[in-house]
Amino acid sequence: MRYVSTRGHTASTRTSSEPTFTEILLGGLAPDGGLYLPESYPQVSSRELEQWRGLSYADLAYAVLSRFIDDIPAADLQSLVARTYTAEVYGNGRVHAEAGDITPLRWLEQPDPARGEGGLAILELSNGPTLAFKDMAMQLLGNLFEYVLAKRGEEINILGATSGDTGSSAEYAMRGKKGVQVFMLSPHERMSAFQRAQMYSLHAANIHNIAVRGMFDDAQDIVKAVSNDHAFKARYRIGAVNSINWARVAAQVVYYFKGYFAATDGRGSDQQVAFAVPSGNFGNICAGHVARMMGLPIGRLVLATNENDVLDEFFHTGVYRPRATAETCATSSPSMDISKASNFERFVFDLVGRDPEVVRKLWAEVDQGRSFDLSGTPFFARLPEFGFVSGKSTHADRLATIRRTFEKYGLMIDTHTADGLKVGSELRTPAMPMVVLETALPAKFEDTIVEALGRKPERPASLQGIEDLPQRVEVMDVSVDAVKRFIEQQLR
Ligand SMILES: *Cc1c(COP(=O)(O)O)cnc(C)c1O
Repeated sequence: MRYVSTRGHTASTRTSSEPTFTEILLGGLAPDGGLYLPESYPQVSSRELEQWRGLSYADLAYAVLSRFIDDIPAADLQSLVARTYTAEVYGNGRVHAEAGDITPLRWLEQPDPARGEGGLAILELSNGPTLAFKDMAMQLLGNLFEYVLAKRGEEINILGATSGDTGSSAEYAMRGKKGVQVFMLSPHERMSAFQRAQMYSLHAANIHNIAVRGMFDDAQDIVKAVSNDHAFKARYRIGAVNSINWARVAAQVVYYFKGYFAATDGRGSDQQVAFAVPSGNFGNICAGHVARMMGLPIGRLVLATNENDVLDEFFHTGVYRPRATAETCATSSPSMDISKASNFERFVFDLVGRDPEVVRKLWAEVDQGRSFDLSGTPFFARLPEFGFVSGKSTHADRLATIRRTFEKYGLMIDTHTADGLKVGSELRTPAMPMVVLETALPAKFEDTIVEALGRKPERPASLQGIEDLPQRVEVMDVSVDAVKRFIEQQLR
């Protein structure tokens, strides 16, 4: 498997050898500032699809991931996925459903082929340790990092900033992993009590929580400043696990296959399925795009945004207009509050016929904080070929959707999943099954659930009383030097 950068960095333009999967895993951005993608998407035939249908989650993960990974021996990769995708790890969030299934599909409206009804379902992806879908990929990343670092005799110090879900997901995935230390910055007193408790009550020698007296953007700026200090970065082997990480996208491809099989059970593999995806950084839905390019019959990819609608605007108008931080509003689906979508460049690369020259020009604008406009170009005219449609959802929509779903189906959903369900329901075609991806459990967003339903969401037993546990966090001013000094001290 050859990997290429969206901005053109390939074998012919580089002096060292081509990047392998494990190099990309640890490396992040390509040297030219682009994102890595496979040189071509591995194709899955309909015969193979039928063979994959009955596989367990771990076996399916192996089948999919081995198409992208050729520098980890088969037996090792098999054991990595088998250790990752267990009912134990992914049974944490389960309040009702029976254990065993890693990503259960829950029908809200049963399909009725005789009447031409494809049905409406939610794919549960949030039963992992931190109750958000990010655990689906991050847990694998933890095991991959440990494995690859041990092989190479290397160590890495992960530095990141979080406003909630990513940080805790990364910490739960990396805790206790050999060769890995995590330094996670969060805005002091800006996260929910539950989110704080989730991160700060995690006592592991290799996890370091830093709360900065500022906003998320201040934390993010510190991470950027430290990463731009190349001497410091090299000396302390600073790395990242952010959403552009290709291994995260690849791991997410698996559940599109699993969800597809569950939604078409008993109906053969030519049936098309639509997926609705609550989107922020375009990582989750990018995995859906990759699955579709591999040949999975995805009829529609429905992208849902909240009030921060930079992506919805693009799919309707062809204009991609990243917002300034000040223009990004804080909503009740906070994990989708983004001003630019870091994985979007991957899709645009495909949209423009994989011409890195075009991507370079477009992102020369984006990197300067400017917008680009593809309307009226042949690229935008080709958009329907890729199956994307989009819509947006507001706070009032979320409340109404949470209420309606609870009343009609007896199911409590979180605010992000509500955005997906709202937009997915609007963009349904009757005969095609619509699968909405659940990206978090309601227990994470208690306040909005109370606002919508007048009662608190149920909490999995393992997380009851988590706010009362002792917390460990280093509180600091917004200071790059203070963070650097702290890292130095810890690594001494
Ligand atoms: C991260 C996240 C999203 C957005 O996913 P992207 O891959 O960034 O598009 C949506 N919902 C929840 C709960 C999340 O944590």
